[in-house]
Amino acid sequence: MKTVNRCPQCRHELDEGPIMYRCAHCCRAVYAADLENEFVPAEPVAA
Ligand SMILES: [Zn+2]
Repeated sequence: MKTVNRCPQCRHELDEGPIMYRCAHCCRAVYAADLENEFVPAEPVAA
């Protein structure tokens, strides 16, 4: 099952890759290595 990488900032789907992704929404460049560090799986935050 293929997972879709999403922008850690706006959750938009990321293009390009696999080394570096680019968010078409906020134009942010995200490295795959950074993505692993920054990406937080969507889990409900108990406010
Ligand atoms: Zn984005």
